[in-house]
Amino acid sequence: MQITEIYKSLQGESTYAGLPCIFVRLTGCNLRCSWCDSEYTFHGGQKMTVEEVGSEVRRLSPGGLVEITGGEPMLQEREVVPLMQRLLEDGYRILLETSGERPLERVPAGVIKIVDVKCPNSGEPDTFRLENLGTLHRHDEVKFVLSGRTDYEFARDFTRRHGLPERVNAVLFSPAFRKDATGARDSSHCLIDPQELAEWMIADSVPARLGLQLHKFIWDPALKGV
Ligand code: SF4
Repeated sequence: MQITEIYKSLQGESTYAGLPCIFVRLTGCNLRCSWCDSEYTFHGGQKMTVEEVGSEVRRLSPGGLVEITGGEPMLQEREVVPLMQRLLEDGYRILLETSGERPLERVPAGVIKIVDVKCPNSGEPDTFRLENLGTLHRHDEVKFVLSGRTDYEFARDFTRRHGLPERVNAVLFSPAFRKDATGARDSSHCLIDPQELAEWMIADSVPARLGLQLHKFIWDPALKGV
């Protein structure tokens, strides 16, 4: 499979935020989200076998959390599914970060899926594959990245219409980060002020969790490989 990078850092998103985590970042994506901070994954990378990726993960840590991300990892389903199976058998807890556009039926049941639903301002609206709702397990999480009030209302209504809180462990509402952000490690780079988002969520009693990208408040937001 084509790999952009494998590294160890802290998990920055989801209910696993703050935990040490190994990231396996696959190359390539078929979407072009307006606020994407991973454009460097669209091309390049190096070819690695399932065994080579497994060895590198083991070298970095004998156990713990591993996130499979991209790019869009499910574009390389043929190899990434056996990789996830292998890492599960080796005792790792696996998170799969996916755009929600690819079919997820073949993801092993033990993998915790963090599934995006793209909002109108992302530039990739209506790409969420509704059939993927049927693949969700109680341990999975659904994430909306928001860059305006329109996105918030879409996420709020989608969450209620599809009963997401009853299906998954967490529904995450996360302010998009300005993709050219650098320097200050604070919320000035968020495309929605987290305070404003919090007030909307409180006013509507939305059954979702406000998520900030922790790594962008720890390291320079422009830094890759963290
Ligand atoms: S799906 Fe993810 S990697 Fe692909 S363009 Fe959107 S944010 Fe970037």
